Amino acid sequence: MQIHRLKLSGFKSFVEPAELRIAPGLTGVVGPNGCGKSNLLEAIRWVMGETSAKSMRSGGMEDVIFAGTSTRPQRDFAEVVLHAEDDQGDELIVTRRIERGAGSAYRVNGRDVRAKDVALTFADAATGAHSPALVSQGKIAQVIAARPAERRAMLEEAAGIAGLHVRRKDAEGK
Ligand code: ATP
Ligand code: MG
Repeated sequence: MQIHRLKLSGFKSFVEPAELRIAPGLTGVVGPNGCGKSNLLEAIRWVMGETSAKSMRSGGMEDVIFAGTSTRPQRDFAEVVLHAEDDQGDELIVTRRIERGAGSAYRVNGRDVRAKDVALTFADAATGAHSPALVSQGKIAQVIAARPAERRAMLEEAAGIAGLHVRRKDAEGK
């Protein structure tokens, strides 16, 4: 799967609608402290169905909504749209939106879907909110310092087990 575009609105520090194109290959995000680099990675995880507020560095899920500053009022919703091409070459557009007091709603290619459907879409090895392809700030040193066997275990855990876990639960009807 290749992510090629990301749109954010009201998500954390991305208060105004912002659109990013992501070229094939390795992508690095650079900028001064506090400019929103980590928020960007979190937006990718979030639209893929991240359910842990802690891994979004938030107390609660609504904390991803722009909270306001001394000069700007808070927003009532946050929305992230991810455009990707799946392994069959088909276009995949996933939207997650959260409104204050209303929880999250997901759409895939314009159709309302359940959180579980999004989790299944991203359950495969190299994709998803826990993908080894998304290396967050705190993890870089850990990945570099790990011995080969440990590094392999890290990648295997992130790559395989999360996907199988979701699939198994779905098969069991949970
Ligand atoms: P560093 O280089 O220090 O890692 P960074 O570029 O990764 O910085 P982020 O952590 O992505 O920066 O962004 C932090 C900024 O996002 C802070 O200014 C913080 O106030 C802002 N922020 C986070 N959540 C919200 C929110 N809900 N509403 C408004 N601003 C927010
Ligand atoms: Mg950061």
